[in-house]
Amino acid sequence: MVDIQLIARGITDERVLDAMARVPRHLFMTPEYAGMAYSDMALPAGEEQTVSQPYMVAVMTEVLGLKGDERVLEVGTGSGYQTAVLAELAGEVYTIEYRPKLAAAAKRRLDELGYANIRFMTGDGSLGWPEAAPFQGILVTAGAPAVPPPLVEQLDEGGIMAIPIGPRDSQRLLRAKKQRGRLIEEYHTFCVFVPLLGEYGWHDA
Ligand code: SAM
Repeated sequence: MVDIQLIARGITDERVLDAMARVPRHLFMTPEYAGMAYSDMALPAGEEQTVSQPYMVAVMTEVLGLKGDERVLEVGTGSGYQTAVLAELAGEVYTIEYRPKLAAAAKRRLDELGYANIRFMTGDGSLGWPEAAPFQGILVTAGAPAVPPPLVEQLDEGGIMAIPIGPRDSQRLLRAKKQRGRLIEEYHTFCVFVPLLGEYGWHDA
């Protein structure tokens, strides 16, 4: 997976590659998909949601440029796979999931794997986690119509946000760095994520 799907497609951050080699992706799948865990695709996570494709997890993580001591907010815990990759690379990870069943399953997995630097919340992550802000990194794992303003407020000066932005059926990955209170935006690869719900997400999902 690391050689063929990540390095060959241009992922160069050694810390990201090492983390992706360490996290046992098959443990984040429902049993019927465990055998396909290292294939080059997003897979069903239950509740009509997906475990993101390894390459997308790597790209989104790489654009954050984590060095090891950051406090990171993740919106959309899903299976917890991306959460584990972030927890390998940052100081603390705050993760929010909208769907209680997915949130509970992810917490159980990540606790069993021994991650001690993750805090969990069930609810609307488009509002962020104001009590834990500011965050040096914010990663949104669902497609948003626009950047939710609370996430901009909660991003630290110099911090970076990775978020898929665009219509419901196709987005582009936005890397946004906060400088003097404003976002400096850079668009990356096209992608297709499930919709971000909640106050600053899609309302008809
Ligand atoms: N990265 C995850 C993984 O590898 O398993 C995949 C996340 S999945 C593509 C997107 C997740 O975002 C879903 O679990 C969905 O329930 C969640 N979600 C959607 N809107 C949300 C919101 N407003 N707050 C928190 N989670 C949300």
